[in-house]
Amino acid sequence: HPALYWIRRDLRLADNPALHAAARSGRPVVPVYVHAPDEAGAWAPGGASQWWLHHSLQALAEALAGHGLTLIIRHGDSLAALTELIAETGATAVHWNRLYEPAQVQSDIRVKQALKANGIEAHSHNAALLHEPWTIQTGSGGDYKAFTPFWRACRRQQPEPPAPLPIPAALTAPAGADALPGAVDPGRGRTAALDALGLLPRVDWAEGLRATWQPGEAGAGQRLSAFLDQALAGYHDGREQPAVAGTSRLSPHLHHGEIGPRQVWQAVQIRLAEHGSADGRGESAETFLSEIGWREFAQHVLYHHPAFPDEPLNPQFAAFPWQDDPGDQLLGAWQRGETGIPLVDAGMRELYATGWMHNRVRMVVGSFLVKNLRLPWQAGEAWFWDTLVDADLASNSLGWQWVAGSGADAAPFFRVFNPIRQGERFDAEGAYVARWLPALAGLPAKHRHAPWQAPAATLAAAGVTLGIDYPHPLVDLKESRQAALAAFEQIKKGA
Ligand code: FAD
Repeated sequence: HPALYWIRRDLRLADNPALHAAARSGRPVVPVYVHAPDEAGAWAPGGASQWWLHHSLQALAEALAGHGLTLIIRHGDSLAALTELIAETGATAVHWNRLYEPAQVQSDIRVKQALKANGIEAHSHNAALLHEPWTIQTGSGGDYKAFTPFWRACRRQQPEPPAPLPIPAALTAPAGADALPGAVDPGRGRTAALDALGLLPRVDWAEGLRATWQPGEAGAGQRLSAFLDQALAGYHDGREQPAVAGTSRLSPHLHHGEIGPRQVWQAVQIRLAEHGSADGRGESAETFLSEIGWREFAQHVLYHHPAFPDEPLNPQFAAFPWQDDPGDQLLGAWQRGETGIPLVDAGMRELYATGWMHNRVRMVVGSFLVKNLRLPWQAGEAWFWDTLVDADLASNSLGWQWVAGSGADAAPFFRVFNPIRQGERFDAEGAYVARWLPALAGLPAKHRHAPWQAPAATLAAAGVTLGIDYPHPLVDLKESRQAALAAFEQIKKGA
């Protein structure tokens, strides 16, 4: 009797406890992906994530075929699809790796109970986190609301997270697996079941994504190696500069489970052991590992606060007086990268073109939306959800509530980013702005972050006519900052 390996957001063969356990049981293995966007509640994957998922599933099908397994793709209710496949194959066990989003936790519980009630072995495993949310608790048994004590508790945890698992050596398919409905084998041109999921956009906007990313486990491994070789040693400072490739860009790979945090963790430790921790390398490695910690913290907060993606964690903020925006004029300008504030616009264009945005710039565009435009953070969160290839319910909510000042360990509301100062500090040469806003590339670096302040002759020499080649600022930065602070005072008084 075969075992089913139910694939979720764990699109890899290495360090895969569910696949490992299925193989170790000595049974033939049937890997199955059930596309069930409805089970994610209001947060079914957005456009960029769907594009990624399509290519990642294709890469996984190829990798599985290389180990003699056939990926089966089904669509609809997870439990119904698994039950059907159990009937078709005679499987007696199902293994999967857990997800931690509230809707997915519910779906896990329902599936596990129903399978067990039908006499099927049902085992879930941890592939996605160093520490599962319920294993890290404050002294009084609650969840952490601040990152630093959370991360300290994680680092103290014994035993430490296990070393990553290898790809199972002996994987066998049951006879006739490739004749099952939904079988996918890209090497032999069999991709109908994958194509039928309709994950690729109808109007092809994905050129920039194709040019930037290689979804799948192999692509994830290459990213990690390149980062370790080229950027880890200088990460502490390099990570703040959006014009340079100073960060790992592993986020979409981590989100889709093409690589796991245990693998990243171990690779960094090995690198440190080989090269030592002198020259600031140790500090850089610690900073990088703490970013993996922020990913864990986000999952922890979401697990303990299921309304986190939709409602401010600090309830005071529910009464925040947002600005009216008839016809989404302001929101639309922000989404299109036409606010007239170069660092904001450059970030929004990087996002739209590549499906990713540098973390420093995410904070700046977020602050601009929530504070200078005074539009709800949920509107920014929704746009990121649709356009980011790393859109992750936990990390995206954490990022937006951090920006809005309403979340766990959030930025204080009164600290409003000044996008001109941020640009001068972190993109001093204006190279990032020039890359994403070619209309401003002719300006001297010192004017690229505030072209409206440049002398008329400088603008003319660079061929820039404001209002034609590049917009005037949508709002006055100083006035809008003051309006935001006044709005904040209002909710503080109301509390
Ligand atoms: P690196 O600097 O190389 O960090 C390594 C890994 O650590 C990342 O891949 C990521 O998994 C994790 N990480 C780093 N910073 C954070 C963080 N602040 N919070 C949680 N995890 C982190 N990250 C997402 O993965 N998905 C999102 O949907 C998302 N939305 C965000 C929204 C806003 C408004 C903000 C301010 C941040 C958001 N982030 C999100 C966090 C962060 O911007 C990205 O994780 C990071 O830019 C990814 O690039 P990287 O892989 O090169 O990061």
